Amino acid sequence: VSPKFKLSLVFKKKTELGPGLYDFMFTGAERLSFTPGQYLEWTLGTEHADSRGNRRTFSIASAPNEDEIHIAIRVPEHTSKFKTALLALEPGKIITAGQLSGDFVLPKDFKQKVTLIAGGIGITPYVSMAQTMVKLKEHRDITLFYMITTPQDFCYQDLWAKAAEFGLKVVPVLGDASAPGAVAWTGLTGRLNEGVLKTSDSDYQKRRYYISGPPGLVDAYRRLLRSLSVSPRNIVTDHFSGY
Ligand SMILES: Cc1cc2nc3c(=O)[nH]c(=O)nc-3n(C[C@H](O)[C@H](O)[C@H](O)COP(=O)(O)OP(=O)(O)OC[C@H]3O[C@@H](n4cnc5c(N)ncnc54)[C@H](O)[C@@H]3O)c2cc1C
Repeated sequence: VSPKFKLSLVFKKKTELGPGLYDFMFTGAERLSFTPGQYLEWTLGTEHADSRGNRRTFSIASAPNEDEIHIAIRVPEHTSKFKTALLALEPGKIITAGQLSGDFVLPKDFKQKVTLIAGGIGITPYVSMAQTMVKLKEHRDITLFYMITTPQDFCYQDLWAKAAEFGLKVVPVLGDASAPGAVAWTGLTGRLNEGVLKTSDSDYQKRRYYISGPPGLVDAYRRLLRSLSVSPRNIVTDHFSGY
């Protein structure tokens, strides 16, 4: 279908992925052709509008060419009218989605080595990419740094285990070593730096980087990569504005 096409999607169910993190599943997307990493604009009735309106952009968090389509969202404690309405959707309700867009997509060349960096809910485009690798049995050399605030934020572990077979290595990084539950954390803590990137991949300066999440995190890691002489051509970003 054309990118201008508006889809009427039927809400099926929501699943809590972690604290304040929800997956929403809809059906009716079988005619939508997209590339993993792209996003849609989601619209609810105008009665759900607040000062930010009744539309939001959400990345697609599932593989293309399936009847089912997923998004995953972060719901803060004091959330918008839009997300409150989304959480209250009853199965069978219709939501419109359109304006398919985005060039935050993996290289066409499967041999290009890639490093993905996600800040929290910025993981969603990578979920679509990993689902697609598994579904189409596509092999790539990918390292994914998943920046999380608490250990409970480390979502999609079953997917990462399946995608490992196709070359995806996931490295969760806990931002705050004093977060609840952090005592039992055995993985990395803190922020990414040259040492972490180098230890993970000795060819770190030649890889193509993707950074997705809140704008502050995206900009900080873009600056880090530039300071490490990674070419700007090899840095692709997706700002989740609104957080
Ligand atoms: C390309 C792209 C892809 C994206 N993909 C995703 C995705 O996959 N998942 C995802 O969760 N987000 C995604 N986002 C961000 C998303 O579009 C929203 O901007 C974001 O979730 C904030 O939503 P919200 O406005 O409903 O506010 P909330 O998330 O409810 O709130 C965010 C903050 O704003 C405050 N706030 C809420 N409403 C108001 C208001 N009316 N006035 C003042 N302050 C308010 C809240 O208290 C909170 O501090 C994406 C953005 C872009 C640009």
